[in-house]
Amino acid sequence: MKKFLTYFKLFFPVFLFIFISYSLFPYVKEAWEENEGLVIEVFYRELCPGDVMLIKIKGRNIYSADAFIFQKKFSFYKSRNNNLFTLIGIDLFEEPGEYPIIIKIRSNSSEITEIKRVIKIKEKYFPLKKIRVKEEYVTPPPRALERIKKERAILKRIYRTLTPQYLFEREFILPVEFQAKRNFGERRIFNLRRESRHTGVDIPAPKGVAVKASNRGKVVLARDLYYSGNTVIIDHGYGLFSLYCHLSKITVKEGQLVKKGDVIGKVGATGRVTGPHLHWGFKLNGAIIDPYSVIELPLNLLE
Ligand SMILES: [Zn+2]
Repeated sequence: MKKFLTYFKLFFPVFLFIFISYSLFPYVKEAWEENEGLVIEVFYRELCPGDVMLIKIKGRNIYSADAFIFQKKFSFYKSRNNNLFTLIGIDLFEEPGEYPIIIKIRSNSSEITEIKRVIKIKEKYFPLKKIRVKEEYVTPPPRALERIKKERAILKRIYRTLTPQYLFEREFILPVEFQAKRNFGERRIFNLRRESRHTGVDIPAPKGVAVKASNRGKVVLARDLYYSGNTVIIDHGYGLFSLYCHLSKITVKEGQLVKKGDVIGKVGATGRVTGPHLHWGFKLNGAIIDPYSVIELPLNLLE
């Protein structure tokens, strides 16, 4: 026991240091370019399905930049300090493997610099869970089919919009002050039949607890949907959206601007649920991403 205590005293500060540094910087920082006139830094948690990359370009004489990957174009945003940023989401359904990325940088005199890299998306293990819900959420009755189709079209239209400015400010916050499950990407089987993937994280909390906007943005959807119940979607700009589902009550209106921390509704159990909780999700340029990959990025750098 005495020996254990001695070791404990010796190693505890080391463990504490590792723990604190991981909690403060849960992401990786890579320098892709470090020339005199051009610095490209990339931040991410892990290069795997559901995660986000933040790319920052610093340099004199830069007019604009675009990144090309996953057959999509990602335009860079220019901050107050004249740095350029873009966020790239790796979709939950992206196949692991090697992906070329091209960054095209245009100077004030229209010269183009091309930077090419290859990123390696790693495989990630997502556990399997069996869930039992009301049968109407596994085999919807014929009268609900038209409604489901309409709602899918609404969501598709929303996620296709690109607001050409960042509405959010610095880091994102947890919308409910309860312990969130890290259950993004879980493979699910509903009522032993219907397979599905979990596209967000769940925060179990009692019915009626206030749900807050994770960051500043515009409410683009505030209504009752078949599967997700009372739902709020906030547009944070540049293709980034946060989603809040199964609410017992919605307290905002479509079109309304909300600040970080504003109450947007109350925790509930509407739609396809097994009990009261908040389902919290994110979309970034059409990619389904893990909310934790957003809140753990150093978004305070975007200045
Ligand atoms: Zn959920």
